Amino acid sequence: MADKAYPIVDSKKCTGCGTCISICPMEVFILEKNKAKVKKPKECIGCRACESQCPAQAIKIVE
Ligand code: SF4
Ligand code: SF4
Repeated sequence: MADKAYPIVDSKKCTGCGTCISICPMEVFILEKNKAKVKKPKECIGCRACESQCPAQAIKIVE
């Protein structure tokens, strides 16, 4: 179910570009120490915008 989806960030791959923070409609991510961090996983609606737009392919959506 999409409403149980949430993102996982591979911090080794994340470059801290901020794309996921800008693009997520639910403000799931924050930037912390120049890495994306999943702050509000329960807010994720599973749209996969972050997963498809991350230039480092650092985000995976788990359902
Ligand atoms: S879009 Fe990808 S590389 Fe950029 S901050 Fe988010 S997780 Fe990191
Ligand atoms: S799948 Fe959509 S709602 Fe969920 S974290 Fe990514 S951009 Fe945000």
